[in-house]
Amino acid sequence: MSPVPSGRVHNLINIAAYSVLAAGALYAARQELLIITPAQALNFTLAYAAGTFLLSPDLDLAEGRVDSKRHWGVLGALWVPYGMLFSHRGWSHSWLIGPLTRLLYVALIVALVAGLIRFVAPDAPLPSVPQPVAWKLVAPLLLGYYLSQWLHLIADGVRPDHGLRKGYRKVRGR
Ligand SMILES: [Zn+2]
Repeated sequence: MSPVPSGRVHNLINIAAYSVLAAGALYAARQELLIITPAQALNFTLAYAAGTFLLSPDLDLAEGRVDSKRHWGVLGALWVPYGMLFSHRGWSHSWLIGPLTRLLYVALIVALVAGLIRFVAPDAPLPSVPQPVAWKLVAPLLLGYYLSQWLHLIADGVRPDHGLRKGYRKVRGR
């Protein structure tokens, strides 16, 4: 099996790809080929950074020591159940479901914390999602997040049909 990039290499690949993309987008905007609002650019960048540094597919190793868990500091412990739940380079490394599992996992933790706060202090003000949800701002979030994830998978040599093929077997190693 070919060696799989370490967390550091994944970060460098994603940063390099972002630089190329940002330069391209800036050029296209200057040439008036593309209209990107500052809010859209910010959302894309934030989601891309979160996907690269905080929500890496390699969190499936969070039962042990892994770069993406370290970025969470003490909160890294929250990812241990995720690491135990998902085998390394299994569903966590699939193209559509994989990134979704980590979003849902974060949503679950946020819901648990919010529920706990509601329970302990029923009158505490909680931030809410602004309604209606603006797709013009959600789309760049999803795009940035998924792109960061897909670059990781490409660097890992994981194909888009990963997990869908028959006779798919767990790949071991980092
Ligand atoms: Zn990986």
